[in-house]
Amino acid sequence: MKDIKFMKSVKGKQNFPCEKLMSLEKIENEKKAMRWGLTCEKGQCQERIVKDGKEIVEICKFKPTIKQVEENSHSSDSCHYYLQKYLALISNHSLWNYHSFFQIMKFNRKLFADYLDRKVSIFDEAHKIEDQIIQFVGFDIFGGQIDECKLDYSRYDYSDIDSMVNLTDDMAFQYAKKIKQIKEDPNFEKNPDFEQLSRLEKRYDKTAQARIDIIEDKENFVVNEPQKDLDGKIKFVSIKPIDVSKFAKTFFETEYQIFMSATIDKNSFCENLGLDLDEIAFIDTPKSPFPEVNRSIDFLNIRRLSYGSTHEDELEVIKIIDKIMDEHKDERGLILTSSIPRCKLIQRYLSPKNTRRIKICHSSNPDGKSQDEIIQEHAKDHASVLLSSSLWEGVDLKDDLSRFQIIAKVPYPNYKEKRIKAKMDKFPLWYTSQTLTKLLQGFGRSIRSETDWAKTYVLDTAVNNVLFKAQRMIPKSYYDVLKIDI
Ligand code: SF4
Repeated sequence: MKDIKFMKSVKGKQNFPCEKLMSLEKIENEKKAMRWGLTCEKGQCQERIVKDGKEIVEICKFKPTIKQVEENSHSSDSCHYYLQKYLALISNHSLWNYHSFFQIMKFNRKLFADYLDRKVSIFDEAHKIEDQIIQFVGFDIFGGQIDECKLDYSRYDYSDIDSMVNLTDDMAFQYAKKIKQIKEDPNFEKNPDFEQLSRLEKRYDKTAQARIDIIEDKENFVVNEPQKDLDGKIKFVSIKPIDVSKFAKTFFETEYQIFMSATIDKNSFCENLGLDLDEIAFIDTPKSPFPEVNRSIDFLNIRRLSYGSTHEDELEVIKIIDKIMDEHKDERGLILTSSIPRCKLIQRYLSPKNTRRIKICHSSNPDGKSQDEIIQEHAKDHASVLLSSSLWEGVDLKDDLSRFQIIAKVPYPNYKEKRIKAKMDKFPLWYTSQTLTKLLQGFGRSIRSETDWAKTYVLDTAVNNVLFKAQRMIPKSYYDVLKIDI
């Protein structure tokens, strides 16, 4: 937005105060509304009401139409969220987050067809596209929904896709029954609860649609191990597609697509998204714009860490982490590993003085602090060291925020997760490329500009195996620091 002034960006509903809620609460100050949490996320943009004895859908009076925005005839108190969204749609150049854009492409393409006719689309951080697509084609069943439908948990096999199809079938049936009961209840006419009705209808639609998607191509779906609470009760079960390529085309419709990433490989990327290799031009930047000396990597080959490694192997690696932290005693740093239990083990066995420097940071944390809050605390302490299994991507530790980073363990995808195992069996290239991408992303966390620098240490010997297997996938801009001869 800073570089390209004419670009119109779209932000999520949580960034804007809802005019309707403000008027209901009689608040005029937008900052105050935001502080009170009266954001567009909570606004009811359309409501079912009874008027003159008839049930009608009432659209929020603050919501402009896209035509009004195009003709500049919308009212001055129009909803901020829809205004910016429609301004982006009518403008020649717009900037979207993946979720908002994919939402339009999947559900509202026809509605906005006149505005989506573009020549080029550019997808940044393209190595994450599969994760974004999966959010639109997988299905999660929550324990609360099974309870709501009054179904008996023990009747289903949570490892079997047919049984899960039966579960979605039973849920859809129960939702339909509830909707019918509500509508036929004599109280409904006198005192209708449209909020509850529309919630049940949405659940019915989603469940019924998921059932259709799964039945159409059952072989392509896996049921992940259910997540359970402390009492062993099911919290949720995820049903995910193995191959997303069949769904990918929905999202890439322009004549030209540009996919940008520092860490993608042509063959596995095309295979994964179902792109025809002959239709792709691949530009592998020959050299990193950041000097080699600022990005040096030391492969220390301490021990091979895996599910089968011994306690002694783990302790040996932790001993070296301690030593490196001593060498950087007055600097901030980052330690990356593969799981939360491994983070705890490292914290437990470091020397007391280095344990005090550690700040464990995950996307969600037991004390309720967000990742950003922990990083802010880290910025205030001159020798703080972040320890994480989730900061491999999407975090900018620029300049003094991190001058050393330790890769304690190679980030293999968790093959105990059924979808990962199934995908790995079907697409071996994918598994290697996922590991490489995450590793290379990790290397980049602490060097964010031409003048920034940080030292990287890799302790897990398994890295050699990954780099050997993935040698044809490594982008050229890493050849210098990985000492690969061209
Ligand atoms: S259209 Fe905008 S102002 Fe109206 S309810 Fe929705 S978010 Fe709120």
